[in-house]
Amino acid sequence: MRLKRLELFGFKSFGKRAVLEFNSQITSIVGPNGSGKSNVAEGIRFVLGEQSMKSMRGKRGEDLIFNGSQTTGRANRANVTIVFDNSKREFPLDFDEVSIAREVYRDGTNQYFINGSQVRLKDVFELLASVHIGASGHHMISQGEADRILNANPKERREMLEDALGLKIYQYKRAESERRLLKTEENMKEAETLRREIAPHLRFLKKQVEKINEGRELRERLIGLYREYLKREEMYCEYKTGDIAGRKHVPAGELADLNIKIEHARGELAKESAGDEKSQRLLDVESRLRGARARHDELSRTLGRVEGMIEYEEKQLRKKQESFAHQEDVPIRLGEVEELESTIAQELSNAQGSDDINYIKGALNRIRDTVRGFIAHHKAEAGQKTLTDADYLEVHVLREEKAKVDEALRGVAEESRAMEGEYQAVKSEIDQEKEHSRDTERALFEMMSRRGELQGTLDRMRNEEENLARESRRLAEELNEAGVLLGRSVLEYSDIPVTLEEVRGESRDAQEARRRELERGKIRLEDIGAQGGEDAEKEYTDTIERDVYLEKEIADLVQTQQSLYQLIAELNVKLDTEFKSGVKKINHQFGDFFRLMFGGGVAELFIVKIEKRKRRDTDLDLSDIPGGADSEIAEGEEEDEEGIDIAVSLPHKKIKGLQMLSGGERALTSIALLFAISQVNPPPFMVLDETDAALDEANSHKYGDMIENLAKLSQLMVITHNRETMSRAGVLYGITMGTDAVSKVLSISFEDAAAVAK
Ligand code: ATP
Repeated sequence: MRLKRLELFGFKSFGKRAVLEFNSQITSIVGPNGSGKSNVAEGIRFVLGEQSMKSMRGKRGEDLIFNGSQTTGRANRANVTIVFDNSKREFPLDFDEVSIAREVYRDGTNQYFINGSQVRLKDVFELLASVHIGASGHHMISQGEADRILNANPKERREMLEDALGLKIYQYKRAESERRLLKTEENMKEAETLRREIAPHLRFLKKQVEKINEGRELRERLIGLYREYLKREEMYCEYKTGDIAGRKHVPAGELADLNIKIEHARGELAKESAGDEKSQRLLDVESRLRGARARHDELSRTLGRVEGMIEYEEKQLRKKQESFAHQEDVPIRLGEVEELESTIAQELSNAQGSDDINYIKGALNRIRDTVRGFIAHHKAEAGQKTLTDADYLEVHVLREEKAKVDEALRGVAEESRAMEGEYQAVKSEIDQEKEHSRDTERALFEMMSRRGELQGTLDRMRNEEENLARESRRLAEELNEAGVLLGRSVLEYSDIPVTLEEVRGESRDAQEARRRELERGKIRLEDIGAQGGEDAEKEYTDTIERDVYLEKEIADLVQTQQSLYQLIAELNVKLDTEFKSGVKKINHQFGDFFRLMFGGGVAELFIVKIEKRKRRDTDLDLSDIPGGADSEIAEGEEEDEEGIDIAVSLPHKKIKGLQMLSGGERALTSIALLFAISQVNPPPFMVLDETDAALDEANSHKYGDMIENLAKLSQLMVITHNRETMSRAGVLYGITMGTDAVSKVLSISFEDAAAVAK
């Protein structure tokens, strides 16, 4: 990679455009004091992104802009452009030329351009770091700063070496990684804080959504339960209504019939109880019968008395008769005997037909009297002294009376018999009627009993009807309530597959259990209450998404953190190993250059430990890098630091420290070290601003040899007053400044150049 060109416009003393082409490996810039040579070197620093105003000999950005002169007006901005050949694509840009430009304005603002496009300073740094050019690296040796590396402290030396060894890129990477690590950790903390903050709200929302879901599931379940319940209840009520009506029909009809029959039976009984005339008749007959009996008794008594009197009279007659002679053989006519037999037969016949013992007794007495009368008659007829009619008159009268009484008795007997017959007939009639009444009463009793049963049955059915009516009313209320609570869909239960057989075959307890379950469900639904619904769910989903996002982000950040830790550790290892191996290589070259310069002796770099301290990222001057300002990442971290010390031993001299070297010796030592560094990691170009100023002629020669050697690896821009140095250059530029105080660039010959040499 070659540095092709430098253009200065408005920069410091270059009030007008000046262009330096670098067509040789060694370009020498010569000119009188104050003509602007160092401004060229500073122009290069400037365009490469130098941020230290001090190293460009200014205080403010304005100091870098051409300030004008008595004849020339001041510039408003300073512009420096550096152009590299990139045909070999050392820069990772697909251009044959890469130009970097920087402009500074009087207000101090800076602008950077790569190939004409405005970029950030960071981009310029990165581009240059990719070809091992640092902003203030070892490739820029300012005037009077040749021994800066010797004057620097161990730490500064280390930084210079790191820069020269091309380790800055790793340091940038490490700083960038640390900055990212800090940012990552901040983001982690932030995400964790956010997660912690939303956690209670998330828990609250989760509970709310769980309740909503529970409510929704409960509603669904309740709708299902309700549909089945309502369907069954409706079927039950319909079925039960028909069932009761069906069952009621028969007993109700029977009861109606029974009522008619009962009324009829009662009528019958009423009629029968009204039939007392028969009893009256019976009483009459009884009364008459008693009268007849009384008369009969009277007549019997009369008869007895008359018969007693007859007996007495007859006894008297017999006594009287006995007093007459007794004659036994008396002829009696057959007719008279037959008449006697007929009379007796008649009496016997009457007696036989009577139940009245008195009558029978009377009949027997009359038979005896008849036989006695017959005998007495025939005795008298036999001629014996016999009794006269007068004797018999009394008996006769008595007998007639007796006959009358007998006749009366017979009449009474006859009358009694007739009345008894009548009595028996009436009594039989009454008994028959009583028998019929008892049957009617029994039937009535049975009917009443049956009616009681039927009324009991119908009462139970009425109870059932009342219950059913209550249940129907409750069903209507439940339908209404279900519709209000769960919406119209709950009423779409007609398609629920329930058969009448199931409803009929199921006990009411099962339906009651369903109703209780519904009640419990409703209470639970009320407990759950009306939640936010979709809003809460949406918020929950959003919050979960946010939480998941944060969780994932934290996981990603942890991963990033881990990879950054790893990257930083790797960079540390790389920096350490590269640095140590670099120092080793530099030492080797340093020794060679030192011996060449001093014709012997020993010079060596060695790594020394610097006391522990808190590392600040400002150790790396990234403050001006966009995005690099907030990089207090590692503040507070303690780390072991290593620095670089230099040990020299001049030939033939007992020199023990750098401070004991002469000015020239210091210059030679530092040149030896700088060149050694450059040899190990050659930069694409080097600017050496009067590095050879302190050299005597002999050493100038050696210096000339060295830069020729150095030019094999790096392009050199040497600002010098030294003839020897000038003589090694392929191109010579003379910088002049006329009365207009504007530096001008002239391509000049060695002779012209030598003329201005000391
Ligand atoms: P020497 O050989 O003595 O080191 P030099 O050639 O390196 O000198 P420089 O130091 O590069 O000279 O240039 C210094 C000159 O630049 C001074 O004359 C100074 O006035 C001029 N100069 C510095 N800054 C500005 C500015 N902002 N505007 C105009 N001129 C400036």
